[in-house]
Amino acid sequence: MPNIKDVVEEQEIFNILKKTQNPSREQVVKILNKAQEKKGLNLEEVGYLVNIKNPPLIEKMFKAAGEIKKEIYGERLVLFAPLYVSSFCVNDCEYCSFHRKNPAPRKKLSLEEVKEQVKILEDMGHKRLLLECGEHPVENTIDYVVEVIKTIYETKSNKGEIRRVNVNLAATTVENYRKLKAAGIGTYQLFQETYHRTTYEKLHNGPKADYERQLFAHDRAFEAGIDDVGLGVLFGLYNWKFEVLALISHAQYLDRKFNVGPHTFSVPRFQPAETVKIKLHHAVSEDELLKIIAILRLAVPYTGMIISTRERPEIRAKAFKIGISQTSAASCASPNGYSNDHSRDEELSQFSLQDHRNVNQFLISILKQDILPSFCTACYRSGRTGKTFMELAKPGDIHNFCRPNALLTFAEYLEDYAIPQTKKLGDQIIQKYLKQILSSDIKEETKKRLEKIRKGERDIYF
Ligand code: SF4
Ligand code: SF4
Repeated sequence: MPNIKDVVEEQEIFNILKKTQNPSREQVVKILNKAQEKKGLNLEEVGYLVNIKNPPLIEKMFKAAGEIKKEIYGERLVLFAPLYVSSFCVNDCEYCSFHRKNPAPRKKLSLEEVKEQVKILEDMGHKRLLLECGEHPVENTIDYVVEVIKTIYETKSNKGEIRRVNVNLAATTVENYRKLKAAGIGTYQLFQETYHRTTYEKLHNGPKADYERQLFAHDRAFEAGIDDVGLGVLFGLYNWKFEVLALISHAQYLDRKFNVGPHTFSVPRFQPAETVKIKLHHAVSEDELLKIIAILRLAVPYTGMIISTRERPEIRAKAFKIGISQTSAASCASPNGYSNDHSRDEELSQFSLQDHRNVNQFLISILKQDILPSFCTACYRSGRTGKTFMELAKPGDIHNFCRPNALLTFAEYLEDYAIPQTKKLGDQIIQKYLKQILSSDIKEETKKRLEKIRKGERDIYF
């Protein structure tokens, strides 16, 4: 087993936070200039950024993060939807309403119900899902999860299909990770929730209370051949400045050890839920959340970043500009949540959502922000994962695939699912960004492929 200190050195993080607590303007400007080279920042530099208090300097930091976001990820925003398949859980995590002591009835989807949910999501236009379920050795076995993944890939509705299933599943064994890999998952996501060990152990009860099991889960996933992993923190459980440094330290550890950094960071903030009585001593404000996103963008520029519908539309809109590259839309956080059957409305939800717009409403709002929506799943299906992906992502070359693939997948959406207003705005955005493809060969090829999509071909990608 690796050493915890290889991943997170708590004392070192506290020392850095103390040393960097009063950054000068010169120090910040120097760090922001270094960040523009897009090679990342060290922990001390991140320490100075988390400690910026001066509003004009914060603005400067947002601007710098926005520029990096634009250079590496361009104008695109990849969409996905979570799919909760089971609320059974043996853990008592104090911040989550699926916790074991909650007496509310539990739900686990049958494979028939999985199909029903997937069809609903496909009819919304989704191509990428994030599978979620609690930890339960009897109800949510690895074989059940594998069957669910198989069912998702096999389920088609009209022109709809799911092309990538990412998975957010409890820490498990190398053998189980091998089964997930064989089932064809995209990214394996697991959040440390809090990197502060004492806080972690206080808030968890059950198998998840094992800090090391959680911390080294990604190592085991790598060992099993999964080379796209996602990290995250549940902000609000502990001091966010500590968490940001620890998260970056974890990313650097994976990069050092496997030569592959995390594929994504997720930045959920604690949101209330019924039966969750936790007293937050480290609540993170919306302004602080935006700082977190900007700092992560500057410090680890090659890693995609995800925001969910836990946040209000106004904050999400700002976050898209300064660092977020993937987002959920029209989400539900309960098993069967997408069903139109209102008798199921009372089902247990993992947390409360702040953005209730449907996919079309969401798309219209981002199109008005000049953002290009993307339903792309190309990399994983073309073998661009792990090291191969990092070789393209680190120098920012992945952008050459992302933009044309965003245009193609969004054009599919417009043909198959858009309402007239989305179609009109969407066609304008497609023309705008088509012109901006730098390589004339790729531009011409994209034009030809767009034409094929208009004529009915589907699933064409670079
Ligand atoms: Fe279970 Fe996950 Fe909720 Fe903890 S956070 S109670 S492990 S579903
Ligand atoms: Fe993601 Fe690859 Fe598609 Fe870009 S080309 S959006 S990195 S899957």
